[in-house]
Amino acid sequence: MEEPCELCLAIDEDYRVIERTDHSFCLIALSPIKAKHLLILPRRHVLDWKDLSMEESKDLFEMVSRYKDKILKISNEEPTLHMNFERHGTQRHIHCHLLPTKGGFRDLVSAHEGIPRWGVVSKEEMEKLRDEFSRDN
Ligand SMILES: [Zn+2]
Repeated sequence: MEEPCELCLAIDEDYRVIERTDHSFCLIALSPIKAKHLLILPRRHVLDWKDLSMEESKDLFEMVSRYKDKILKISNEEPTLHMNFERHGTQRHIHCHLLPTKGGFRDLVSAHEGIPRWGVVSKEEMEKLRDEFSRDN
């Protein structure tokens, strides 16, 4: 039998859940990239956003919209939304990452622990990359 999904189980974790609706719930991120990092996800274990029903999609994005306003209000930073897609995230149960950022995606990545701030790519590095991506194998 398959292991129960960590995100499915999280709906019962009262210390993490901010809100539950019929189809969605909002969680405080366990390993936040930044303070006030939230996860908004469907209650149903859905692996691909394309499998959400119209009702689930509506409920999910209404919740995203509500929390986007709350983030703006309490952090005074721009809310940023990232959605993981099947196989691209650490969890396979789809979820939206909603969090405040001052400088967009680059600052967000830089804020993640252990990831150095991105610099400007030199011409030499670009040449090397072009070669690497141009190779057939
Ligand atoms: Zn799940």
